[in-house]
Amino acid sequence: RLPSSVPTTKLAKVGRLLIVGAAGFIGQFVAEASLDAGRPTYVLVRPGLCFPSSKTHTIKSLQDKGAIILHGLINEKESMEKILKENEIDIVISAVGGGNILDQLCLIEAIKSVGTVKRFLPSEFGHDVDRAEPVEPGLSMYKAKQRVRRLVEESDIPYTYICCNSIASWPYYDNTHPSEVLPPLDRFQIYGDGSVKAFFVAGTDIGKFTLKTVDDIRTLNRCVHFRPTSNLYNINELASLWEKKIGKSLPRVTVTESDLLAAAAENCIPRSIVASFTHDIFIKGCQINFTIDSPQDVEVNTLYPDETFRTLDECFNDFLLKVDPKSMSNNETPTAKSPVVEPMTITATCA
Ligand code: NDP
Repeated sequence: RLPSSVPTTKLAKVGRLLIVGAAGFIGQFVAEASLDAGRPTYVLVRPGLCFPSSKTHTIKSLQDKGAIILHGLINEKESMEKILKENEIDIVISAVGGGNILDQLCLIEAIKSVGTVKRFLPSEFGHDVDRAEPVEPGLSMYKAKQRVRRLVEESDIPYTYICCNSIASWPYYDNTHPSEVLPPLDRFQIYGDGSVKAFFVAGTDIGKFTLKTVDDIRTLNRCVHFRPTSNLYNINELASLWEKKIGKSLPRVTVTESDLLAAAAENCIPRSIVASFTHDIFIKGCQINFTIDSPQDVEVNTLYPDETFRTLDECFNDFLLKVDPKSMSNNETPTAKSPVVEPMTITATCA
């Protein structure tokens, strides 16, 4: 017999979950976590994915672990309705990238018209877009995410918004997918005076905790904030942590508020979007300048107090494995092992 304190959600049947963008940076973590949790996992892949590529490799590996691959585009309402109905999808998690946020408007119309989806998680996975106010061009992305939120709410679709803060890695201001890239090996760029703190969450934990929320009644129509106290660091502390790992001190160069604003104002997409978020996090303190006290908000630690987050220290150990140990034993600048993990390609367009 289960104690009465066990939430009814824990007894709910395991629903069929559709993940959009599972070949993407954040989507991969979510899809892996869904499969690890033993959920029936459906993955939507855009038709015409080029073969072979790292994305086809990702999709194949998810398929090998049991994911069911479906082909479609979320911005095609009729075909999405068909996919949702035929596969009896209960939960939809979208992890489309910043350039495709508004594609979700058609998906929402499809979810509304089918009427059987019990939870929708739109592509958020960052800051609370109703609170944070980055400079442009980041602001336009937040406005798009807000528009998605408002349509979800107006459509009466059960939702959860995941505000997981920063992914655990060095927060380069000019790289969109930083967790693939080593922290600096030559010098640190410190934003402002380097004293503003932020929360860093391992990609695997973004996936794991997102999955926990999807049929938890306590997260229904709520914004879930990830604030692991063990992973609250400012950039000076982050630099010291990495110096301890590599056993060397590196020079620290200041990137001022004006430098970040100038990089944002260049309006090179997506690089300038990252610069505007970096300014918002490490100058304005957008992750820590509010308390979670409205009925709409909930903090993930209070929901799952027995679950631990990977520490930033552990995440940096993973990066250390990519540093050539020979280069750390002499007095020269440490180097990465070869072949170096390539950052994801960024196609920049400048206005
Ligand atoms: P990516 O660009 O890496 O991946 C997006 C995925 O969505 C791709 O697989 C893409 O397909 C798919 N997709 C895009 N449009 C469509 C469509 N119309 N129909 C079907 N599939 C589509 O995205 P990210 O992982 O960078 O971003 C996901 C979310 O996470 C965003 O909201 C972003 O703001 C946030 N984020 C948060 C970070 C953090 O540190 N907290 C860091 C990075 C992102 P295809 O493979 O065919 O291109």
